[in-house]
Order: sequence, then structure tokens, then C-alpha cells
Amino acid sequence: MIKAIKGVKDILPDDALVWQKIESVARDVFYRYGYQEIRIPIFEQTELFARSIGADTDIVGKEMYTFPDRDGTSLTLRPEGTASVVRAYIEHSLHQHARMWKLFYFGPMFRHERPQAGRLRQFHQAGVEVFGYSEPHVDVEVIALLHRYFTQLGVPTFRTNVNSLGDEACRPSYLKELKKFLEKIANLLCENCARRAQTNPLRVLDCKVEKCKAVLTDAPIMLDHLCEHCLFHFDAVKAGLEQLEIPYSLNSRLVRGLDYYNRTAFEVVSTNLGAQDAVAAGGRYDGLVKALGGPMIPGIGFAIGLERLALLVRETVNHTSKVDIFIVALGENAIKEMLPVLDWLRTQGVATDMDYAGGSLKSQMKQADRAGARLTVIVGDDELKKRSVVVRDMQTKEQQDLGLLDLAATLIKRCAEFR
Ligand code: ATP
Ligand code: MG
Repeated sequence: MIKAIKGVKDILPDDALVWQKIESVARDVFYRYGYQEIRIPIFEQTELFARSIGADTDIVGKEMYTFPDRDGTSLTLRPEGTASVVRAYIEHSLHQHARMWKLFYFGPMFRHERPQAGRLRQFHQAGVEVFGYSEPHVDVEVIALLHRYFTQLGVPTFRTNVNSLGDEACRPSYLKELKKFLEKIANLLCENCARRAQTNPLRVLDCKVEKCKAVLTDAPIMLDHLCEHCLFHFDAVKAGLEQLEIPYSLNSRLVRGLDYYNRTAFEVVSTNLGAQDAVAAGGRYDGLVKALGGPMIPGIGFAIGLERLALLVRETVNHTSKVDIFIVALGENAIKEMLPVLDWLRTQGVATDMDYAGGSLKSQMKQADRAGARLTVIVGDDELKKRSVVVRDMQTKEQQDLGLLDLAATLIKRCAEFR
């Protein structure tokens, strides 16, 4: 038997309801904040990711699905969305059409990671990207947007952590100090961090290995080294969040895995997720558009891991109601008689279903229950002779005899009462 690839998951119908809710609430909230949808391709030239995400990151170093096209060009299945959105922004000169752009996207991402709970090889993200604002107000807006979205969706427990990563003025001297510190404790770090201490020291700060966490408690932090401009910006972000009453925690260990971030970085974590507790992450990337060949235009955005979000909101979704009415037709004559009723109800906007194979009363009532029907319409040979049907309210268990002629109109009226 051929099975799905390791780390890749099917979303079966019950789960799809959860995903539909996640997507529809997201669209609703994103549009209310003035964001527009952009749809970007699933594969790109490898160079796009190598240049934007950075060579010494986990993603580019070991997680990308890269393969040669038939002409030899190196292609990569996108591991994240920001690089493609920025590429599209530059390629279509969007900045010439409007000064500000606020975009959102949904879609699958691909990373070759060790599959485990909350970590897949094909996973999905929803993200937003804003171009053209350097003002801290927009940092506040995207963090608030994320918070309001999670709240509206009914995510039970979550926390927003924020930090500042500084900029090209203050980060280099901080990194020097951090490197010096890491050299002193090099023999206490995990293998991965011992290497990253040289190549990507910031990443050491968010290592998940316990022995690293323990020795890093005394590490110098970026917040103590912010230059005047970064400090001003960060203070304004914090003040803005407080003004809107968006709860947040300062987390000086928070860094981002991708090279292009500066200043505000944030993530949303939940205690209901186990070890992989980050459900969304984002930050400012003022240099990225330029680094990819565009003008010097600031940007900020976030990406939400939708599998992890689905785990958090699964309980809040009503899985039971798939149809309003289930027609239980007993025997070939009854089925034939009810086909036009079934069709008519559907054209009138009433979700209706029926089992064409017939089956016993008991098995069809079970089906009606599983489909979450509010009403069942029961028709057998006896009813057909009397030109009537039995309508059963599945909640109150009340039954009513109805003439075939009045049936459709009565059913539509009853369904309207349920809504
Ligand atoms: P992590 O620390 O969990 O590896 P990351 O820094 O690699 O996260 P980002 O690139 O910031 O993650 O992606 C944003 C979100 O996408 C994460 O917070 C997470 O919810 C989700 N995500 C990332 N990688 C995976 C994956 N392999 N499987 C499922 N979800 C993922
Ligand atoms: Mg990762």
C-alpha cells in the first residue's frame, strides 16, 4: 500500500471544519484591518531563500526541499512566505502604485525537519506583511491584529512575547559582546550552539536544549545595548500596546531564526502545545526589500503555524451539524418520490441529504444522527399510500404527519426557525 510521505498530513473532513473556521475568521479580521490577500507560488528559485533567510540558518542549512529543474536551475519548495511576498512586491513594483501595502497570505510551507508533535515537513501558515511604514504604530497594529484574531477565534490560552533585536547601529557591538560571553562558556554548550556561537550567535539564545538554557541565563541581552533610535522605537511599541490594552511579556531571549529581522520581534506561545509552544512569530525586517534588489522600504510581518493553531481551537468547533434535514426513504418507491423534494430543498438553501441505497429505518436514523440533522423526514410504503410523511424533530423527538403537498414549504419554514 502506498502511504503519505513522512511528516505530511491529510486533513480529514472533521478537521477540515476546524481549518475552515481558522481561515474564515482570519480573512474576516485581516480585511477589517485593511489587509489584502496575495497568492504566491509554492516554488521559487533557491537563491531567493538563500539570500533572504540567510546561509547559517536551520532552514537554509538543512531544511529546504531543493531540486534541479529540467534545465538545471535550482528550485526550492518555499519554507516560508515572506521571501516570496517581498519578491512579488519588488517584481511588480508595488511601491510605485501605493506608498503602503498591507498583505496577507495562506498556504503550505515545506521544511525537512524531524517529524514530531507540532512539527511537520509540509505544514501551513497564515501570514501578513506590511511595507512602507517605519512608524512604531504599525508594529503595534500587527501585534494587536494577531492578538485580536486569536481572541476572536477563541484560542484558550496564549501569551505574546516581545523583544527588540536592535539595528545595524547597535547590534554589531552587542554581538561582539555576546560572542565573547559564548566563547567563555563554549565547552558547556550543545554541539549545535558551539558552532552557532561563531556563525549566528543570536540563535544560541533561543536554543531549546536544557544545558544551554541553564548557562545562558547570564548572557548579555540586546535590550541593554539598544541605541537611542531603537530604544525610542521599542518604548513607543510598548506604550502603544498598553494604550490598546494588548497584554504582552518582555522576553529578552526571543530572537528570530531568520537573518533579516531587526528591531521589534515577537511571538505567540501557548502552554497547551507541549515542547513546540510557538504558534506564531514575526518581526520587523527593514532591510529585506533592499537586500533582495528593491528600494529601501521598511517591512514588518508575522506567520502563524496553522497546525498548532488547529490543535488549540479544535474543541471550539461544532463538528456535529453537517445537514439540516435527512430524508429517510424506505424502499425504491419512496426514494424515487423524494428525489425532487431533496433537490428542491437544496435549491432553497437547506442542507439536505438522503441515503440512495435505502437500508433499514434503524440504520438510516443513525446516519441522520451522525449528520447532525435537525429534522428527519421518514417515508415508507404506508406513508406513500396516504400521500404523507412523518417529520421528526431530532432534538425534541416530536413527530408530525405532513401531507406530501405541504411538505417542502413547511420544512423550509421549520429550518428558518432553527437559524
Ligand atoms: P520553531 O522554533 O518552532 O522551529 P521557527 O522559528 O522555525 O519555529 P517560523 O519560521 O517563525 O518558525 O514559523 C512561524 C510558525 O510556523 C512557528 O511559530 C510554528 O507555529 C510554525 N512552524 C514552523 N515550522 C513548523 C513545522 N515544521 N511544522 C509545523 N509548524 C511549523
Ligand atoms: Mg524551525
